[in-house]
Amino acid sequence: MGCDGGTIPKRHELVKGPKKVEKVDKDAELVAQWNYCTLSQEILRRPIVACELGRLYNKDAVIEFLLDKSAEKALGKAASHIKSIKNVTELRLSDNPAWEGDRGNTKGDKHDDLQRARFICPVVGLEMNGRHRFCFLRCCGCVFSERALKEIKAEVCHTCGAAFQEDDVIVLNGTKEDVEVLKTRMEERRLRAKLEKVMEVFRPCPASAPEPIAKHQTARYWQLLRGLQ
Ligand SMILES: [Zn+2]
Repeated sequence: MGCDGGTIPKRHELVKGPKKVEKVDKDAELVAQWNYCTLSQEILRRPIVACELGRLYNKDAVIEFLLDKSAEKALGKAASHIKSIKNVTELRLSDNPAWEGDRGNTKGDKHDDLQRARFICPVVGLEMNGRHRFCFLRCCGCVFSERALKEIKAEVCHTCGAAFQEDDVIVLNGTKEDVEVLKTRMEERRLRAKLEKVMEVFRPCPASAPEPIAKHQTARYWQLLRGLQ
């Protein structure tokens, strides 16, 4: 893939390449997906976050994106579903002891080492290199291979013990079909959160509550309901 001069290949260089290369280099695509921020296209570095659709980002790039909405136009749909920092989860990744890409080289520009994953599954030891399916839990951010989650059936996180439900499991860099499912789940989750807010307004207010509070609640109810449409 070139880059023998020791430069860090940018994501777009890896993904797009020259037009004459008709067959998309699958390996290059995997390297890009698993090692580069979806937004800034910089190499991933902690703190690393993931969205509800399972894409990886540098946290600072997401913050910058949220602060500067003009960037949204330039980047198209890639992150339009991220409306708040609460929409992403900071990941707890397990370092791969066999990965030496950054050692003695703070720029981490040893391209060959990108083939060796920086992170592994803490349960079964699979490398997070794009060849195995990996998931994270929305409740705690811990990252595992799908195999670990399937083999060891549990309702609590293997690493930190946090309770989780199926809805909390997000496949990282999944297939088109995975992303469709995740998108539906994301939309349902957001609608549910809005409905919960509406229900809160319905909570009976104490008989002693002064009149203006009741009026304020009615106005808020209609405001929320409009937001649902
Ligand atoms: Zn956990």
